Amino acid sequence: MDEIKVNATKPYSVYISNCSLDFKLLLEDKSIKNIFIITDENVYNNHKKFIDELKDRAIGIKILKPGEESKSLDTVVSIYNELLKANVNRETHIAAIGGGVVGDISGFVASTFMRGINIIQVPTTLMAQCDSSIGGKNGFNYKGLKNIIGTFYQPKFVYIDINFLKTLNEREFKSGISEIIKYGYACDESLFSFILKNKSNIKERKTKELLYIVNKSAAIKGSIVERDELDLNLRQILNFGHTIGHAIESLSYFQLSHGEAVSIGMYLESYLSYKIGYLKWEELESLRKLIEFFKLPYFNKNINYGEIIGIMQKDKKKISNNIKFALPDKVGHAIITTDITNDQIIECLNELK
Ligand code: NAD
Ligand code: ZN
Repeated sequence: MDEIKVNATKPYSVYISNCSLDFKLLLEDKSIKNIFIITDENVYNNHKKFIDELKDRAIGIKILKPGEESKSLDTVVSIYNELLKANVNRETHIAAIGGGVVGDISGFVASTFMRGINIIQVPTTLMAQCDSSIGGKNGFNYKGLKNIIGTFYQPKFVYIDINFLKTLNEREFKSGISEIIKYGYACDESLFSFILKNKSNIKERKTKELLYIVNKSAAIKGSIVERDELDLNLRQILNFGHTIGHAIESLSYFQLSHGEAVSIGMYLESYLSYKIGYLKWEELESLRKLIEFFKLPYFNKNINYGEIIGIMQKDKKKISNNIKFALPDKVGHAIITTDITNDQIIECLNELK
């Protein structure tokens, strides 16, 4: 089992393994007896054996309906009720076993119930393993606004078992790949080269390659989080692909998955970077070819790109007149900039049409 330490205000470890027994050993080692499980129906049905074994030592379990709709105030309240019924106390550890939805809602509940009880994150999607389970951001959607209510609350530890990834459907798997390409292209050249060299084995979900990319992405996320826990500056590098990506996600009326919108966002933002002279054409092409290899999109003709700027300007991350971008200036490195004018964005989008 590998261990990555995240030196946030409250330091914790991210364990990465390919053996479900490791989690039980970890619980014993840390003398955690009193757990309350939160998961969703898909995760439970696919990993019944693992969860049922844990159920024996749990004081309760809440199984959510899968999907983004569960990230709501109603779900938060229903979990509080279950926690009260199960006589949860301050010794209790919530075990959040699931994707980003389960992780985000459980993190919020843990941070608020009894002014904060422990949470162990057990991410089961590629997206959650390399991104959302690390860093302590949690929350839920309210009045149609995504993640508008939430807190920063670091977990006791994160346990990643890459075997969970074997049951993910292709679309969810690809969504996670998009985030991993993001880490490589914007933060770590060696990760990007590894993905390029081992793309076929990654696509086939081979253990050795999955362990490598999850380890590397979790380490990158951990190191960024410990330097900017509250998302004030450095963490914004991880918005690469997301500034345009979020706008595309909503313009597609959520027909595109988050990962698909991000892969388009990564390509368009990199194209912008190429146009202003940061990225070389070959570097841009290596990104496009990799996106294509994983059958992710880099452009979508059905989207009304004319509306992108308006949507990006409403984004809560905007602080000046110009839109703030995390743009790669070479493979494995990105800068935060507000120097791009709206005219430059429009010019790029028109060229790509
Ligand atoms: P998700 O949690 O909805 O999971 C995707 C689907 O996969 C669901 O249907 C789920 O039931 C299913 N699933 C999960 N694990 C499975 C497994 N092992 N086998 C089979 N099916 C499985 O989606 P996600 O992509 O993991 O997370 C998206 C959420 O994460 C969004 O709400 C987003 O806002 C949030 N997020 C949070 C952060 C953060 O820092 N907190 C970062 C990025 C995204
Ligand atoms: Zn994302």
